[in-house]
Amino acid sequence: MIFRQFFDSISSTYTYLVSSGYGREALIIDPVLEKTNQYINLVNQLDLRLVKVIDTHIHADHISGLAELRDKTKCITIMGEHAPADIVSMNVKDNEKISIENIDLTALYTPGHTDDSYSFLMNDRVFTGDTLLIKGTGRTDFQNGNPYDQYNSLFDKLLKLPEETLIYPAHDYKGESVSTIGEEKKFNPRLQVNSAQEYALIMNNLNLANPKMMDIVVPENKNMGFNREKQQNLNGISYNKLKNLSESEEVLLVDLREPIEIKKKPSLLNSINIPYSGLQEYLRKENLINKTLVFYCAVGERSALAIQTSQSYRIKQTYHLVGGLNNI
Ligand code: FE
Repeated sequence: MIFRQFFDSISSTYTYLVSSGYGREALIIDPVLEKTNQYINLVNQLDLRLVKVIDTHIHADHISGLAELRDKTKCITIMGEHAPADIVSMNVKDNEKISIENIDLTALYTPGHTDDSYSFLMNDRVFTGDTLLIKGTGRTDFQNGNPYDQYNSLFDKLLKLPEETLIYPAHDYKGESVSTIGEEKKFNPRLQVNSAQEYALIMNNLNLANPKMMDIVVPENKNMGFNREKQQNLNGISYNKLKNLSESEEVLLVDLREPIEIKKKPSLLNSINIPYSGLQEYLRKENLINKTLVFYCAVGERSALAIQTSQSYRIKQTYHLVGGLNNI
């Protein structure tokens, strides 16, 4: 397995790259905008294919690299379902799996630092975002944070993982890089409490200043998605137009979502399922010179990216559904 930890010294953010091996698919967690070239260089050097990027929550102290990585590599952007829906191309729920080649991550909803905070469990390790830090926990005094929710996320979820589970947080301010659940249970001062009330008392009296760039960074991070105008400009069509088109024999309706999403909301009638990560391979193999392809996905971002991707292939015509299935 390839596992790399990057550090941004300005915001003290940790970013992680994982892949099952050279030449395979890769995933990045909590990228920082200013560091995206560093990640892409390593991805290229190791002959990896970046297919997914995840943010554990809407960050307040740095601008996320999600949109930049998506635009440069055409990868899928992912957050938990409590994040504003249209800032990423795919939302996951508590306990759902995010998969890349040979690797599964389980999403764990761990609110408290913010109401959209998720952790991601990968075999022997867990990416805890700002929910559980090394010898600390993420503040709970903005972005709908709540110390009682965080207490439950910590004590009912994260601390119930096996003691040897490695903890990789989104930040560290003291030079630590990794810990374990067992060590944090014993030595994390915030966890030496007997009740949620006791925990809340600590968290409500931290009196921290807001992050310097918060008022700029949070709105920016909430604006990462392809907006409607951008979607429309990439051969976007309405649901009615899609329905009309789908009656023609030369039209191929392509659902770009993943099986876990289709389970939640079924595909449209007469469509084929090509998960977005497998689209290039499909376009390379099939003869589509006489076909009109109509892509759709959850929110219209992957389908808009698919329009860009398919420009390198010989296809009669391509369209995509603006706003995706979640909008109809
Ligand atoms: Fe945070």
